[in-house]
Amino acid sequence: MPEPEVLEPALESALEPHFEPPELAVHNDSLNLVRAEIISCFACPRLVAWREAAARNPPARFRGQPYWARPIPGWGDFEARLLIVGLAPAAHGGNRLGRVFTGDRSGDWLFRALHKAGFANQPTSTALDDGLELRDCYIAAACRCAPPDNKPLPQEMRNCRPYLERELKQLPSLQVLVGLGRIGFDAAFDAVRAAGLTDQKTRPRFGHGAEAQLSEGLILLGTFHPSQQNTFTGKLTEPMFDAVWSRARAILATNERPS
Ligand code: SF4
Repeated sequence: MPEPEVLEPALESALEPHFEPPELAVHNDSLNLVRAEIISCFACPRLVAWREAAARNPPARFRGQPYWARPIPGWGDFEARLLIVGLAPAAHGGNRLGRVFTGDRSGDWLFRALHKAGFANQPTSTALDDGLELRDCYIAAACRCAPPDNKPLPQEMRNCRPYLERELKQLPSLQVLVGLGRIGFDAAFDAVRAAGLTDQKTRPRFGHGAEAQLSEGLILLGTFHPSQQNTFTGKLTEPMFDAVWSRARAILATNERPS
C-alpha cells in the first residue's frame, strides 16, 4: 500500500483532541492557572510544529496511538518541598502521553529513584491513569514542548521561563530544587533569580552532585540528566543518581525555610 494511504488516517487521528487537559485540583487556583496557560501555549512556532510533527510521524511502535502533542505542564504535590526541573518532554514520551517523564527511558530512571527516596508512590510512569502520585515533590521543565534533538533554542527557553518562575512563586513550601542536567540546573537558578528568591547574581557551577545555597532555606542540587546518552554510557549510574535524591531527602529532614 502506498505510504500516504497508510499514514493519512494516523495523521488525522493523532491530532484529534483525544485528551482533555489533566484534571486540575481546586485548592490552588494560581498554580492551576499556570498549568492551564502552559497547555494552551503556542508561543514558539518551531516547537509547535515539532510537537505536532512527532504526532504525525510516530515510530512504528506508537503508530495509530493518539498523541497529546501540546505543551506539558508541571505536576505533582502542590505543597511540595522538592521541585525537579527537567529539560523538556520527549517527543514520543511526554509529548505522546501528556505528562513529563512518562513513557520514556529517562522516566524509568527518574521514578525508580524517586520511589526509592520516598517521593513517589510507585517506581514507574507509563500513562496518565497509571496511579502514580508524587509526594512532597513537583516536576517541571525548562522547556514545556518537545524540541528537535532535545535542544531548545535560547529564545524558546526565554519564552518558557516565566512559567517556571510563576510555579516557583506558587510552591510556598519549596526548599530544594534539583536541576536535571546543565540546562535544568541553569534554568532552575535563572527562574529562582527572576522570581526574586535569591540575591545571587551568578549561576552556580553545574556538576553531578553540585549543591548551592541560593538563600536561607533554599538549596539547588545538580545531577547528570538520566538520558539514555548518560545511562547507557555509564556516565550516570544508579548509585550516583540515587545519591542525589538521598541528599535531597537529608536536606529536607534538617532544612527550615523561613516563612
Ligand atoms: S516551549 Fe514554552 S513558551 Fe514555547 S510554545 Fe512551548 S510552552 Fe509555549
